[in-house]
Amino acid sequence: MNWKTLAEKVLAGGNATREEALAVLESPDDDLLVLLDAAFAVRRRFFGRGVALHVIQNAQSGLCSEDCAYCSQSSAAEGSIERYRLQSVGEIVQGAHAAHRLDALRYCVVISGRAPPDKTVEKICEAVRQIKREVPLQICTSLGLLDKDQARQLKQAGVDRYNHNLETSERFFDSICTTHTYADRVATARVVKAAGMELCSGGLLGMGETFQDRVDLAFALREAGADSIPVNFLDPRPGTPLAGRQRLSPSDCLRALILFRLVNSDREIRMAGGREACLGPMQVLGLFAANSMFTNGYLTTPGQGLAADRVMIESAGFQVTSITQA
Ligand code: SF4
Repeated sequence: MNWKTLAEKVLAGGNATREEALAVLESPDDDLLVLLDAAFAVRRRFFGRGVALHVIQNAQSGLCSEDCAYCSQSSAAEGSIERYRLQSVGEIVQGAHAAHRLDALRYCVVISGRAPPDKTVEKICEAVRQIKREVPLQICTSLGLLDKDQARQLKQAGVDRYNHNLETSERFFDSICTTHTYADRVATARVVKAAGMELCSGGLLGMGETFQDRVDLAFALREAGADSIPVNFLDPRPGTPLAGRQRLSPSDCLRALILFRLVNSDREIRMAGGREACLGPMQVLGLFAANSMFTNGYLTTPGQGLAADRVMIESAGFQVTSITQA
């Protein structure tokens, strides 16, 4: 496969085919730098050398009825994590101010749970209205399965983007979750788009899925019109059913980021959870495909911190994207 030719096709407005996408994942390590160069040509066209930083606020932790096999907040998990009910409006707003001080472009308010009760949505909307008055930040919320009225309320309150990951392929989904379906997740993605919010939807890799499942996910997200695609890498959590799995190799993580870039060329691709654990010193190479990352940690695990992230971004010749450039 000539990777430069594939990049040129994508840059000319063509689409990578499923066969080409699979070939990316199956390619040998010797091709990795050429592939990264191809992904970078596409990334540079749409996003230059900017890196959008996102900060997560875990506004409700644990106590979840669902059984997602990877998640330490699930009812099926036995690990020790901090568990708490929905934070106050004041705490969520304070988190936004802290995110702004960390140079975040986007503040992501996440709660555990299958679907939010209406009173939770109302409280989140109150917090979002206050944040929009006080802090120059884009806001994403991730509250679980959503209905049309709730989506409309969030949009009206000022939510820019809603996160709901498809997580994996339709074929593999039942292997990692039995309490809700892939179709439930697709339905929420549609509700989000119909309400006029941007859709953030991605997945988690390394759960035992095949290369074909990863390709299916990349194409399903294109079909769903995902505006932002977080690509997470499983860092197995103690006490979860996936605790014994091996992490993906850095090369496999990089090939996955390249796949998502080439299939979803002009979409925000985020090197998300598991970045530090799975890519280690190779994470800087991920920036040649991805144009976004979380800083300051994840839902239940810490990251390497803003100072180290900044050094990595700037030493490789990238720049943090500011709110005025977005
Ligand atoms: S619904 Fe969300 S919080 Fe609940 S187990 Fe699944 S991923 Fe975890």
